[in-house]
Amino acid sequence: MYQAAENRYDTMKYKRCGRSGIMLPMVSLGLWQNFGLEKPVSEQGEILLSAFDMGITHFDLANNYGFPAPGKAEENFGTVLKSDLLPYREELIISTKAGYDMWPGPYGNWGSRKYLMSSLDQSLKRMGLEYVDIFYHHRPDPETPLEETMGALADIVKQGKALYAGISNYGEQEAVKAISMLRDLGVPCLIDQPRYNMLERGAEDGLFGALLEQGTGCICYSPLAQGALTNRYLNGVPADSRAARKGTTIGGRYLTEERLEQIRRLDELAGKRGQTLAQMALSWVLREPAVTSVLIGASSVKQLEDNAACLENLSFTQQELKEIDIILK
Ligand code: NDP
Repeated sequence: MYQAAENRYDTMKYKRCGRSGIMLPMVSLGLWQNFGLEKPVSEQGEILLSAFDMGITHFDLANNYGFPAPGKAEENFGTVLKSDLLPYREELIISTKAGYDMWPGPYGNWGSRKYLMSSLDQSLKRMGLEYVDIFYHHRPDPETPLEETMGALADIVKQGKALYAGISNYGEQEAVKAISMLRDLGVPCLIDQPRYNMLERGAEDGLFGALLEQGTGCICYSPLAQGALTNRYLNGVPADSRAARKGTTIGGRYLTEERLEQIRRLDELAGKRGQTLAQMALSWVLREPAVTSVLIGASSVKQLEDNAACLENLSFTQQELKEIDIILK
């Protein structure tokens, strides 16, 4: 029988999520990859329970997570909840999303009320939960009126199926519109989930400032550029890595020769700071005042431990920040 570590709240740092009552761990764990069919559920459980033992109270899912079987991550997470984590439900922030292709036909994708409502019901069933803490619209839908999508999010919260609403992959203008619509509906938008890492800095162009102004929290996904901003690929592609798996996007997106050269130089700089490259990459994301938490992935407990230790050094000198900008130019 799993017993959570008594010292689980001793070292993790927590930050307030926008202007809300919720504190999130500054390092959160996502289940997009590594929680499908890649490894036995017992190994997945080990990662999840170790995370909770480290004070990682926030787990992020989506209807379609679970390589290569959409829905499998929620199902596996439900298994671990049932066997070990349910006694701690009040200490957990569990999120899920809908917005990408999930089932055939016109109602299993994008942003209609029909899709969002049905998808969340399915997610709750797969996880064996009565409610999630955060329900996100996963990506903007250019065809559905924003009023319909935000209306569905607000009603989901009012029905008690989610405690808070969130948006993901919305650009600055769309985000501000969605946030103000939700506010008018009496359901403040708790959080935005954009992609942000040293190699992809689009969120700096307006989005971060807007979120601070609106009082909406921000959790950045792929802060390690799917593993590219770690020591994983410095000497080739390991057989057990994400880049070695079929159907993943890391290789084409981040692992060009030019990028690898930059990554080697970043690795040297991290060493001078007394950090691993992964730790420096995470501390760097957390330097942004708008950022509440980094949403990492991990395929082992060792990676989790490495990443959580980024919190031991969150400050950068102006010189270090400049050097990073020069390397990335
Ligand atoms: P990361 O950028 O943190 O990449 C995680 C991968 O990096 C791991 O799977 C592992 O790769 C490698 N890694 C992690 N830590 C280390 C370490 N210390 N040393 C060496 N390698 C390491 O995040 P993800 O891209 O996985 O995304 C994280 C979460 O963000 C997702 O699970 C999901 O919840 C969310 N997300 C949301 C999206 C959205 O549209 N809203 C889109 C994408 C992600 P390996 O498996 O090869 O060991």
